[in-house]
Amino acid sequence: MVIVLFKCPKCHIDIISPIQAIDETYAFANYLPVLMHCAACETPSLLVRCPNSCGIPPEWRCGKFLDMCLRVATVCRRRASETRNWDLQDFFLRMERTWLARARVYDLSQETALVAARNVRLRNTSEPRQIA
Ligand SMILES: [Zn+2]
Repeated sequence: MVIVLFKCPKCHIDIISPIQAIDETYAFANYLPVLMHCAACETPSLLVRCPNSCGIPPEWRCGKFLDMCLRVATVCRRRASETRNWDLQDFFLRMERTWLARARVYDLSQETALVAARNVRLRNTSEPRQIA
Protein backbone atom coordinates (compact mmCIF):
# COMPACT_ATOMS: atom_id res chain seq x y z
CA MET A 1 0.00 0.00 0.00
CA VAL A 2 1.14 3.52 -0.80
CA ILE A 3 -0.14 6.63 0.91
CA VAL A 4 -0.17 9.60 -1.41
CA LEU A 5 -0.64 13.32 -1.06
CA PHE A 6 -2.08 15.38 -3.88
CA LYS A 7 -3.97 18.58 -4.51
CA CYS A 8 -7.50 18.51 -5.93
CA PRO A 9 -7.35 20.29 -9.32
CA LYS A 10 -10.77 21.88 -8.73
CA CYS A 11 -11.00 22.97 -5.10
CA HIS A 12 -7.25 22.92 -4.39
CA ILE A 13 -7.44 21.17 -1.03
CA ASP A 14 -4.68 18.74 -0.09
CA ILE A 15 -5.82 15.12 -0.01
CA ILE A 16 -4.04 12.27 1.73
CA SER A 17 -5.28 8.91 0.55
CA PRO A 18 -4.10 5.30 0.51
CA ILE A 19 -3.77 3.30 -2.71
CA GLN A 20 -4.84 -0.12 -1.48
CA ALA A 21 -5.64 -2.44 -4.40
CA ILE A 22 -2.62 -4.41 -5.62
CA ASP A 23 -3.23 -3.58 -9.30
CA GLU A 24 -3.59 0.11 -8.48
CA THR A 25 -0.43 0.14 -6.38
CA TYR A 26 1.41 -1.63 -9.18
CA ALA A 27 0.01 0.80 -11.75
CA PHE A 28 1.15 3.75 -9.65
CA ALA A 29 4.64 2.24 -9.31
CA ASN A 30 4.73 1.79 -13.10
CA TYR A 31 3.82 5.43 -13.79
CA LEU A 32 0.26 4.69 -14.89
CA PRO A 33 -2.47 7.00 -13.56
CA VAL A 34 -4.61 5.87 -10.63
CA LEU A 35 -8.18 7.16 -10.31
CA MET A 36 -8.78 9.15 -7.11
CA HIS A 37 -11.69 11.31 -5.97
CA CYS A 38 -11.63 14.50 -3.96
CA ALA A 39 -13.29 13.95 -0.58
CA ALA A 40 -14.78 17.45 -0.69
CA CYS A 41 -15.97 18.05 -4.27
CA GLU A 42 -15.89 14.48 -5.72
CA THR A 43 -13.82 15.63 -8.71
CA PRO A 44 -11.92 12.70 -10.20
CA SER A 45 -8.16 13.04 -10.49
CA LEU A 46 -5.82 10.84 -12.46
CA LEU A 47 -2.96 10.56 -10.05
CA VAL A 48 0.53 9.83 -11.37
CA ARG A 49 3.94 9.55 -9.73
CA CYS A 50 5.54 11.67 -12.39
CA PRO A 51 3.62 13.35 -15.25
CA ASN A 52 6.69 13.18 -17.51
CA SER A 53 6.87 9.39 -17.29
CA CYS A 54 3.21 8.51 -17.83
CA GLY A 55 3.28 8.55 -21.65
CA ILE A 56 0.59 11.24 -21.97
CA PRO A 57 1.80 14.44 -23.65
CA PRO A 58 1.39 17.74 -21.72
CA GLU A 59 -1.34 19.08 -24.02
CA TRP A 60 -3.48 16.00 -23.22
CA ARG A 61 -3.25 16.11 -19.45
CA CYS A 62 -6.71 17.48 -18.77
CA GLY A 63 -10.06 17.10 -20.46
CA LYS A 64 -13.34 15.24 -20.38
CA PHE A 65 -13.31 12.07 -18.32
CA LEU A 66 -14.10 9.91 -21.36
CA ASP A 67 -11.16 11.30 -23.37
CA MET A 68 -8.79 10.87 -20.43
CA CYS A 69 -9.87 7.22 -19.92
CA LEU A 70 -9.23 6.51 -23.60
CA ARG A 71 -5.80 8.19 -23.44
CA VAL A 72 -4.77 6.10 -20.43
CA ALA A 73 -6.11 2.94 -22.11
CA THR A 74 -4.01 3.76 -25.20
CA VAL A 75 -0.92 4.15 -23.03
CA CYS A 76 -1.65 0.77 -21.36
CA ARG A 77 -1.98 -0.94 -24.75
CA ARG A 78 1.27 0.60 -25.99
CA ARG A 79 3.14 -0.41 -22.81
CA ALA A 80 1.78 -3.97 -23.22
CA SER A 81 3.07 -4.11 -26.79
CA GLU A 82 6.50 -2.82 -25.74
CA THR A 83 7.29 -5.42 -23.11
CA ARG A 84 8.47 -9.00 -23.62
CA ASN A 85 7.52 -9.93 -20.07
CA TRP A 86 4.25 -11.88 -20.23
CA ASP A 87 3.18 -10.99 -16.70
CA LEU A 88 3.68 -7.30 -17.40
CA GLN A 89 1.93 -7.63 -20.74
CA ASP A 90 -1.02 -9.26 -18.99
CA PHE A 91 -1.04 -6.51 -16.37
CA PHE A 92 -1.02 -3.67 -18.92
CA LEU A 93 -3.81 -5.31 -20.96
CA ARG A 94 -5.84 -5.76 -17.77
CA MET A 95 -5.37 -2.06 -16.96
CA GLU A 96 -6.40 -1.17 -20.50
CA ARG A 97 -9.69 -3.05 -19.97
CA THR A 98 -10.16 -1.32 -16.59
CA TRP A 99 -9.84 2.15 -18.17
CA LEU A 100 -12.11 1.25 -21.08
CA ALA A 101 -14.70 0.00 -18.58
CA ARG A 102 -14.43 3.25 -16.60
CA ALA A 103 -15.08 5.18 -19.79
CA ARG A 104 -18.52 3.52 -19.87
CA VAL A 105 -19.69 4.00 -16.29
CA TYR A 106 -18.59 7.44 -15.11
CA ASP A 107 -20.14 10.82 -15.75
CA LEU A 108 -18.41 11.39 -19.05
CA SER A 109 -18.97 15.13 -19.27
CA GLN A 110 -17.00 15.67 -16.08
CA GLU A 111 -13.62 17.32 -16.42
CA THR A 112 -10.56 15.63 -15.01
CA ALA A 113 -6.82 16.15 -15.01
CA LEU A 114 -3.57 14.34 -14.48
CA VAL A 115 -2.27 15.26 -11.06
CA ALA A 116 1.23 14.64 -9.77
CA ALA A 117 1.41 12.94 -6.41
CA ARG A 118 4.07 12.82 -3.84
CA ASN A 119 4.49 9.92 -1.50
CA VAL A 120 3.79 10.45 2.13
CA ARG A 121 6.21 8.83 4.46
CA LEU A 122 4.52 7.15 7.35
CA ARG A 123 5.54 8.69 10.61
CA ASN A 124 7.65 6.46 12.78
CA THR A 125 5.72 5.93 15.98
CA SER A 126 8.61 4.50 17.92
CA GLU A 127 10.18 7.86 18.71
CA PRO A 128 12.13 7.85 21.95
CA ARG A 129 10.03 9.13 24.78
CA GLN A 130 11.41 11.25 27.46
CA ILE A 131 11.01 9.80 30.93
CA ALA A 132 10.94 12.34 33.70
ZN1 LIG B 1 -11.95 18.95 -4.70
